[in-house]
Amino acid sequence: MSFSCPHFCPDEDHCLRLKTDCVPGRKGCVLEGKAEFAVPAEERVRLLEEAKRQAAAEALARGEMPPPVRSRRGS
Ligand code: SF4
Repeated sequence: MSFSCPHFCPDEDHCLRLKTDCVPGRKGCVLEGKAEFAVPAEERVRLLEEAKRQAAAEALARGEMPPPVRSRRGS
């Protein structure tokens, strides 16, 4: 099965509906409660946020500006 979401902005892997990262099935997503995922959405959101924090910390350690933080809505 495939799914193409009209709210997905492929240039940035961004959700235009939630104004944050696209994590299918997350709170507020059009798929919330309508599909089963091998890894729960809450866990994928947690892993994504952890990876972003790690990338920001590594950028700071290199003396670079960390990537901008987008607004977060839901989880
Ligand atoms: S989070 Fe859900 S609603 Fe948003 S772009 Fe991804 S699949 Fe679509």
